[in-house]
Amino acid sequence: MATRHLARWRWHLKTAVASTIAHAFDHGLSVLARSPQRPLVLGYHRVVEEFEASATGEMPSMLTSARMFERHLDWIGRHFQFVTLDEIGERIAAGRPFDRPSAAVTFDDGYRDVYEHAFPVLRRKGIPAGVFVVTDLVGQPFWQVHDRLYHLVAKAFARWHDPSRELIGVLRALEIPAGWLARSRSATRSPLLAVSSLLPQLPLADVRRVMDRLETEVGNGFHDIPRTLNWTELAEMRDAGIAIGSHTRSHVSLPAETPAEIAGQLEGSRRTLEQRLGQTITHFAYPGGQFTPAVVDAVARAGYRFAYTACPHGDPRHPALTIERLLLWQGSSVDASGRFSPAILNCQAHNLWPPARRCGRVHVEGQAAHG
Ligand SMILES: [Zn+2]
Ligand SMILES: [Zn+2]
Repeated sequence: MATRHLARWRWHLKTAVASTIAHAFDHGLSVLARSPQRPLVLGYHRVVEEFEASATGEMPSMLTSARMFERHLDWIGRHFQFVTLDEIGERIAAGRPFDRPSAAVTFDDGYRDVYEHAFPVLRRKGIPAGVFVVTDLVGQPFWQVHDRLYHLVAKAFARWHDPSRELIGVLRALEIPAGWLARSRSATRSPLLAVSSLLPQLPLADVRRVMDRLETEVGNGFHDIPRTLNWTELAEMRDAGIAIGSHTRSHVSLPAETPAEIAGQLEGSRRTLEQRLGQTITHFAYPGGQFTPAVVDAVARAGYRFAYTACPHGDPRHPALTIERLLLWQGSSVDASGRFSPAILNCQAHNLWPPARRCGRVHVEGQAAHG
């Protein structure tokens, strides 16, 4: 009960702060605001019919209801002009800034509910967009790595008496260095935080070993695997003006992988998309928004022209390969009662929302070398 009250108070505070900042912005008092030259690229994951129903079993931060998604679009559409990813990329590559506020919509991972619930809204409103898919999963009944890990960790946390100690024990039993996890106070505070801490640090092969071990300990249960887009749906979306791009072959955290694996993930996914869709693939999104200068170089070598991050950080050598995005979900822009808050979205869209400016992602060489 106490934490509930606390969460509510935080929310009230959040709304109050947002209104103050938005008010200041309206009166031109901010120097930090997004200039009209800087495009606003939104990033979503899943668009579902009902948030509450889906959020009981899925990672809430991946979900946006179709209704909330439409509210976001309507607000953005009143303040920004929607443009294609190609236009944004070409302008950034050429150093030709926009002369009015411009925005674009993107989706990561390639969930089928984007086709079911977001695509009809985008088509009805005539808004272009981009979808970045994990190519090994297209049309396949397999788990996205983050979803499977989340389900297993959530199950383990519900059963374990001391989740922090037990999770570190699982890593040590597999001879995966866990010192960084032991040193982090927040990493094991909730299943979501544990997943967000593990994924950027570990090569996919190690994540799979952790998942197998957890499955042996707690069982995999009977949870439905979220459906992915298939090639027919991707072609239909492409024909309707949606840019299809790569999100690697299997959603690896690129800074944690070897150079050979990085190249294979980037080149393999591009080749598959080009063969299946019969077009040149130029767009790429970094899984988890994790990138280092070496990763950006590899993306350039693999032939991509435009790549998208998940934060305001970039690589000054390659502005078109580190296009910043604002990630949104159901709870990102709501007031204390869970209702859409235009004041908060206003702050986020104009880069005035302090929480959105924080970033714990890997951007420095060696940062993912877990030790
Ligand atoms: Zn992703
Ligand atoms: Zn960052």
